[in-house]
Amino acid sequence: TKEFNILTETFNEMFDKNAANELLLRHKAEHDELTGILNRAAFNQIKLAYLNNSENIALIIIDVDKFKDINDTYGHSTGDLVLQRVANTLKNTFRTSDYVSRIGGDEFSVVLTKCDSNIESTKNLIIAKLKQINAELSEKIEDLPNVTISCGIEFSSNGYNDVIYQNADAALYEVKNAGRNGFRFYSSEMKILSDEK
Ligand code: GH3
Ligand code: MG
Repeated sequence: TKEFNILTETFNEMFDKNAANELLLRHKAEHDELTGILNRAAFNQIKLAYLNNSENIALIIIDVDKFKDINDTYGHSTGDLVLQRVANTLKNTFRTSDYVSRIGGDEFSVVLTKCDSNIESTKNLIIAKLKQINAELSEKIEDLPNVTISCGIEFSSNGYNDVIYQNADAALYEVKNAGRNGFRFYSSEMKILSDEK
């Protein structure tokens, strides 16, 4: 019995270690090293999980304004801190059930899940949050420069599809063209110009 107990203990320890290693590896694969939020691979998984399902979702594509200037003026490591600040602000403003990912250098996405079927009320919620985010980021803190973000938004009542991504991106492009620091909801008058970016 004693030997069996030792064997069981050893096995349990090995099992726990493996399980912990697996969790660690999985966390690493899904999270962005710099900011700690979800990475592009995780975003791709989310897209697949919501592909053409029956959920009301909203997709926000976000790009930091004139971020190259931040790197050029303050250096790359300050740029990194600014990206961390943007990520934290986004993460703290949206619900834990929404997916905030870093999908490129200074580009982020938010997938809002289980949205109200009343688009107007979801719109108002998003407007309030994005205004709050830009107000927060516009404040200089300690040694960190202030920044602003531009955002494009599109809705879907049947889960994710590539068209909502293209539309959100086209809306973002319009915000950039109109002078940055703001947001737009996609409307059919917007041409899909994102390829020309
Ligand atoms: P725009 O308002 O048009 O978006 O102007 P921008 O200067 O922000 O232009 P863009 O979005 O194309 O530039 C993104 C820059 O982000 C380019 C790249 O040098 C920088 N960048 C990408 N990844 C990182 C990173 O991990 N850390 C830092 N510090 N900079 C990064
Ligand atoms: Mg940018």
